[in-house]
Amino acid sequence: MRAMERLAPPPWKAKVVEPIELRSPRERRVAIGNAGFNTFLLRSEDVYIDLLTDSGTGAMSDRQWAALMCGDEAYAGSRSFFRLQAAVERVMGFPYVLPTHQGRGAENLLFSCLVRPGQCVVNNLHFDTTRAHARHKGGRPVDLVVEEAYAAGFRAPFKGNMDLDRLDRFLRETGRDAVALVMVTVTCNGAGGQPVSLSNLRGVRQVCDRYGVPLFLDACRFAENAYLIKQREPGQEGRGVGEIVRDMMAVADGCTMSAKKDGLCNIGGFLAMRDPELYRQACQWAVLFEGFPTYGGLAGRDMEAMAVGLEEVVDEGYLAYRVGQVEELARRLEGEGVPIVQPPGGHGVYVDAAAMLPHLPRHRFPAWALTVELYLEAGVRAVEIGTVMAGRDPATGDHDYPRLELMRLAVPRRVYTSSQLGLVADALGRINRRREAVRGLEFTHEPPFLRHFTARFRPV
Ligand SMILES: *Cc1c(COP(=O)(O)O)cnc(C)c1O
Repeated sequence: MRAMERLAPPPWKAKVVEPIELRSPRERRVAIGNAGFNTFLLRSEDVYIDLLTDSGTGAMSDRQWAALMCGDEAYAGSRSFFRLQAAVERVMGFPYVLPTHQGRGAENLLFSCLVRPGQCVVNNLHFDTTRAHARHKGGRPVDLVVEEAYAAGFRAPFKGNMDLDRLDRFLRETGRDAVALVMVTVTCNGAGGQPVSLSNLRGVRQVCDRYGVPLFLDACRFAENAYLIKQREPGQEGRGVGEIVRDMMAVADGCTMSAKKDGLCNIGGFLAMRDPELYRQACQWAVLFEGFPTYGGLAGRDMEAMAVGLEEVVDEGYLAYRVGQVEELARRLEGEGVPIVQPPGGHGVYVDAAAMLPHLPRHRFPAWALTVELYLEAGVRAVEIGTVMAGRDPATGDHDYPRLELMRLAVPRRVYTSSQLGLVADALGRINRRREAVRGLEFTHEPPFLRHFTARFRPV
């Protein structure tokens, strides 16, 4: 990997601004107490810098806002649909597109077509809605990411890669009929926004061909993945991101997409594919779950904004700043001695809370405790990707402890300046210097599933 240079300025300037306000320490104590020590239950007005998620939180460009005015709101055959279809075909190379209200809508359509009860769905690492949709169709989600994905401090360029040997063995032992499809999530959100290399994607295709299994990408952050391939994969550095994107997509039969990520939109998504027969089948489900196949639960204007966003996101000036800004935040945190997942991924920095707060046992939720502390310290909102989010093991009833206990600082696209992210690093540095004082938490209310969204806690 290249040594870090100074971050170049962004290739845009602000035209519209949204005021934000830092609440006083007392107000923050009241706010987090009222929220049951759960950052999901905070009101956004009480948050100063919001790094809860990069999903749907980006700033649209003037061209996207202008495109909204051109939305064709026809129920069927909307001009905006054909614009979106042309953009998807140009950028990704898939001829058939079904718009959906967001990424999980596309997962639902795809799995409704391909997953039969009892079949496995293989992924490098399932995103939580993808896992839930696979289960909802009676499928069995299986994660086969490379082992180094679980070694937080270990630096490897492509920690999102599929373990090809395990994939081959798994498909051979399980048999074609018991496997619905293979998916590869780019970048791999669950492992810290880690990219998947082009050679790994091609390897996955070869294995899938050997057993006749379909291959789809979970393409939410496809442009960030392509840029990281350009930066990190030998032989790819001289190529255009647009070319790399098309090479990534060329291995797949289609993709699910959340336009709230690399679509640079606040809402929207789609399912794209090559097979006309699958498309016809998915259209039936679309009518049931999303809407007529030329709007899929979206307004015409949303499809216009998506079409523009897909073209803008592969701009290399944009991506250099995007990935560079995340890298800069990681470097500042390292400077503060805060342990993070290495190397930083495409859309955020993941703090290794188990390493930072070793005095807290896992059942006192160290990563969750860190989100509370960070809010109290500086009004910054982050999210736990650890024990609370993982839920309980249905068999034993105990917490289903994940291998990593992380706090994610997700960076919204085109929203915050370097000085604002610097403030986040400074706050975590202060917490790190008095880390033994960070207290753990226990539940006062624990919902039976997807507990992290609505759980309430008290400090112990
Ligand atoms: C966000 C996300 C999804 C689901 O998309 P939504 O638009 O939130 O429904 C699926 N996979 C990955 C990797 C994601 O990050």
